[in-house]
Amino acid sequence: MDGFIDPIGRLINEFSKLPGVGRKTAQRYAYRIIDMTDAEAAAFASSVLDAKKKVKYCKICGNFTENEVCDICLKRDRGTICVVKEPKDVVALEKLHEYKGVYHVLHGVIDPMNGVGPNDIRIKELLARMGEDTREVIMATDANVEGDATAMYIAKLLKPLGVRVTRIARGVPIGAEIEYTDDVTLSRALSERKEI
Ligand SMILES: [Zn+2]
Repeated sequence: MDGFIDPIGRLINEFSKLPGVGRKTAQRYAYRIIDMTDAEAAAFASSVLDAKKKVKYCKICGNFTENEVCDICLKRDRGTICVVKEPKDVVALEKLHEYKGVYHVLHGVIDPMNGVGPNDIRIKELLARMGEDTREVIMATDANVEGDATAMYIAKLLKPLGVRVTRIARGVPIGAEIEYTDDVTLSRALSERKEI
């Protein structure tokens, strides 16, 4: 990288691959690493490798887990399944300590403009989870065009199976992402969900 000795240039290059990190910030992070003690740098590096090695996707819900199946799938009421776009949405909903069911992480939403179709996200896996004990599927995708379209698409597939499908209420501002919705609003949106 221009103007930097190679090891620093490489570090800046790696940091700049992270979302939201521009060259200036990457440079600041790299300098901070150089200032660390050997022990601090080793702890930092090993946490990166450790996370990569140990974190997998739950084979039922698709959320992050250290095991084959996550704790939420193991311990909670499987009769209600809350469908979200990404693992960070699970974190946002879990913070409320209200929801007692399980989740299904789609790892994306239907977005034809960006070439994402129904087969590119975990819809097949959701259908495969429908059983006699499934009482309700709550669509908690973001309140924007893609989130709404995905909710409607999935609702159409589930309804013939006799499953109750609900959508979190419009307490979530139009266009808002679940992750950034404040707790009170998100909590109300969840409790005031409507059948779709
Ligand atoms: Zn799980």
